[in-house]
Amino acid sequence: MNAPERAPVNPLERLKDKGLLKTQSFIGGGWAAGGARFAVANPATRQVIAEVDDVGAAGAKAAVAAAHQAFQTWRKTSPFERAKVLKAWHALIMENVHDLAVLVTAEMGKPFREAQGEVVYGAGFVDWSAEEAKRIHGETLPTPFPGSRGWTIRQPVGVVACITPWNFPMAMVTRKCAPALAAGCTMVLKPAPETPLSALALAELAKRAGVPDGVFNVVCGEAEAIGPVLTGSDEVRMIGFTGSTEVGKILMRQAADGVKRVALELGGNAPFIVMDDADVEAAAAGVVASKFRVSGQTCVSANRVIAQEKVADRLVEALAEKVKALKPGDGFAEGVDIGPLIHDEAVARVDALVRGAKDAGAKILAGGRRLDDLGGAFYAPTLVEGGGYDLDLACFEIFGPVASVYRARDEAEIIARANDTPYGLAAYVYTQDIGRVHRLSEALDFGMVGVNAPMVGSPSTPFGGVKQSGIGREGGKWGVEEFTELKYVLLGGVEG
Ligand code: ADP
Repeated sequence: MNAPERAPVNPLERLKDKGLLKTQSFIGGGWAAGGARFAVANPATRQVIAEVDDVGAAGAKAAVAAAHQAFQTWRKTSPFERAKVLKAWHALIMENVHDLAVLVTAEMGKPFREAQGEVVYGAGFVDWSAEEAKRIHGETLPTPFPGSRGWTIRQPVGVVACITPWNFPMAMVTRKCAPALAAGCTMVLKPAPETPLSALALAELAKRAGVPDGVFNVVCGEAEAIGPVLTGSDEVRMIGFTGSTEVGKILMRQAADGVKRVALELGGNAPFIVMDDADVEAAAAGVVASKFRVSGQTCVSANRVIAQEKVADRLVEALAEKVKALKPGDGFAEGVDIGPLIHDEAVARVDALVRGAKDAGAKILAGGRRLDDLGGAFYAPTLVEGGGYDLDLACFEIFGPVASVYRARDEAEIIARANDTPYGLAAYVYTQDIGRVHRLSEALDFGMVGVNAPMVGSPSTPFGGVKQSGIGREGGKWGVEEFTELKYVLLGGVEG
């Protein structure tokens, strides 16, 4: 008789502090139960690792009411007080990097090392925002009216509702919440259903750090029920969102009725340009870093590698070697470079894009297949060459571990190809020519350009897109400013 198969160990058993595992929503400083529950699965094994309460529309309403009430006092706290609370939150996140990274890897699959990096990166926004809270300034203004003075003050927008995705379950939360709280706003956050545990652990740490009740709320549950409550509430003054352009448009339409401010970080279609004078080895390493991080599931991932003809062969050769060397597997296993995709539908989507390219004549130089043997939602690290710029692979965001290379003749063609997309988030250029650095970075219709640099995001710099990639900026002083209203005051009768 065969021995019964051993059930896989739940990766959440790695948590040192079990108090960070929360499965209810965080509303008004307490944990709120819901009627229904939904499952959270580890995409590397398909094992259900937790069940989370769905608090639905009622929970969203309660969270908005709590945030509205808390706003009346939080808006009046001194920026120094808000900075102190955020510093304490930052310290607790940094003390718990291990456990927070366990949650990230367990619920969305990225390699544990990458997950630790994300937690530290995400914590950076809390630290930066704590500092920035103290630097929210107004200005004095010249006025045309005799005997008058004018000035501006910056005030918090109000209650902010944010909806976040699963690819950076920690950093996308802190990048919105920390600047909002620094500005004096209060927050209702709805995390992605795939990754609620990371957001709930951040809420637990916020509570421990002394964030007052109602200032930060996390509601989990079905987007279609919660979303309209957030966009429809008169008490919510701003909607922050990171996710697909399609859902961003829905939220923008819903927010239009209440003329709410929107901050949208949407999809991208990043060109990764390699000019004929580039350091080809560095460019190949850059493509791998940009493309295969989070298994290619980031909005700034290189989506189209555009190589100038003279260097294309050398680039493809260097890339093939690097892509073949990448080791896919469970993010908790040693030596794994690349984790699973978020779920099986994502694998099917990526597979269809690659098949479409192959059918249109593209060459598959590495990978190009599902890795069902690994027991989860895996797709092989893949390199595709050719097939034309009108492939779905080139026109849509791949969101998977597939690098695709296209050729172009000269700078003019490269710029035209790169800009030929409705998206405009990140672009990358590899060149050693200083004139080209300026010409290309100015000509590319994208919100961020990495020159000889495959990763652009940081707490101190502005992240965001143009065209259908979004509205607004996160990070730096701009990220905090986004959550403030500019008020102008005119004082008359100053001189007699
Ligand atoms: P993805 O397809 O990568 O999951 P989405 O844009 O669908 O990206 O999801 C990003 C976030 O938006 C998630 O938190 C998701 O639950 C939420 N979301 C999806 N559809 C809606 C909707 N109609 N209203 C509000 N939020 C939504």
